[in-house]
Amino acid sequence: MPSNAGQTAKGDKNTAPPLPAPLRVPVADSHTHLDMQSGTVEEGLAKAASVGVTTVVQVGCDIKGSRWAAETAAAYDSVHAAVALHPNEAPRIVHGDPDGWSRRGARQPGGDAALDEALAEIDRLAGLPQVKGVGETGLDHFRTGPEGKAAQERSFRAHIEIAKRHGKALVIHDRDAHADVLRVLKEEGAPGRTVFHCYSGDAEMAEICAREGYFMSFAGNVTFKNAQNLRDALAVAPLELVLVETDAPFLTPAPYRGRPNAPYLVPVTVRAMAAVRGIDEDALATALAANTARAFGY
Ligand SMILES: [Zn+2]
Ligand SMILES: [Zn+2]
Repeated sequence: MPSNAGQTAKGDKNTAPPLPAPLRVPVADSHTHLDMQSGTVEEGLAKAASVGVTTVVQVGCDIKGSRWAAETAAAYDSVHAAVALHPNEAPRIVHGDPDGWSRRGARQPGGDAALDEALAEIDRLAGLPQVKGVGETGLDHFRTGPEGKAAQERSFRAHIEIAKRHGKALVIHDRDAHADVLRVLKEEGAPGRTVFHCYSGDAEMAEICAREGYFMSFAGNVTFKNAQNLRDALAVAPLELVLVETDAPFLTPAPYRGRPNAPYLVPVTVRAMAAVRGIDEDALATALAANTARAFGY
């Protein structure tokens, strides 16, 4: 109704986008955070399954979130877990975080010993059968300043070792840190299955990933107007290394950018990706489903 169009647009911000048309070939959301989304896990999974998103990888970012991911994956066949200390969490454990203290009460910086203790718990969780990935780990030069770099890189190296020892997929978070992430992977020796979540490199980096056999998981931002570099990367990535994810509640695909994201919106991104590749939606979905199962070994 034109008279309240403005009001509707404003209200839209927090309104869940509508259900897209179902995919004919079911796929997996290779990276989501159900614990940060509204509604129950059951509701989120049912809504996703109703449009052909029948599997999700639930990703933990700290000890509490990683335990929850493992518990949730144990409770639902359609959920697999990945466990880790996020690249921005590791420096917080070592150095503390002034904002974190006021939010969470008496949190104190714990030094290297606290990081080791947290990594030991990630190691334990990584051994569980329903945990298919170690991550998201990696480097984030956007949110973590120079003072946190050493802790972040030490944590990243430890996660690589844990993934290799348990034979699990490594899930990489790489924000403004492409060269350093690739360097550390090379120095440590990447695990057999390595996934760049929310792939953010350009076409040139996609060629490096292709040579190394790294999976590239594309999120809703591949649909953003200003993300031609991501579409260029997607266009050259080998089809057998391409995954799709939501990273929900973040990165809601166009035309719903800014509204809450959830796994049921994967079809919107899949369709945009099929257009970029110039292939049929079903052919892409078939590849995405097989690639995600191969990447995470389920
Ligand atoms: Zn991330
Ligand atoms: Zn994430």
